[in-house]
Amino acid sequence: MYFTTHLLAGTALGEAAAAAGAPPWTAFLAGLASHAALDMVPHHDYHKARHALLDIAIGLALAALFFRGPFAAERFWGGLGGSLPDLEVAIGHLILSSGRPWRDFFPSHTGALPHPHWPLLQGLLTQLVPAVLAVCLLAS
Ligand SMILES: [Zn+2]
Repeated sequence: MYFTTHLLAGTALGEAAAAAGAPPWTAFLAGLASHAALDMVPHHDYHKARHALLDIAIGLALAALFFRGPFAAERFWGGLGGSLPDLEVAIGHLILSSGRPWRDFFPSHTGALPHPHWPLLQGLLTQLVPAVLAVCLLAS
C-alpha cells in the first residue's frame, strides 16, 4: 500500500491505543501491525520514484496536520510504526538499482504474508477506505 495510507492508519491506531489507555509503546506496535494487515488487502503499488515522492509529500503534509493535539506523541509513534516498513522497500529499490543484492525483512514484503496487487482504480479504492476512516478518526 501507499505510504500515505500506512501513515494515516498507523497514526489513527496510535491515537486509538492511547485513548484506550494502552501503554505508549503500543502505538508503534499497533502501527507495525496495521502495516502487515493493510498489505494483505488487495491494493495498487506504484513503481516509479516520482510517484513515491508524491505519495511521501502527501503523507507528510497530512502528518503535519495530525501530529498535534493531546495524543500527538502516540499519533507520531503509530504513524512511524505504520510507515516505517516501507523504508526497506525504498532502500531496496536504491540498492537493487545499483546492481547490489537486497533482501526485504518485513513479512508482508518477503512473501511470508500475502501481498495481493490490484490495478490502479480498484487498488486505489481499497486504500481510500482505510485512509478516509483514519482521517475521520483523527479529525474528530
Ligand atoms: Zn509495505
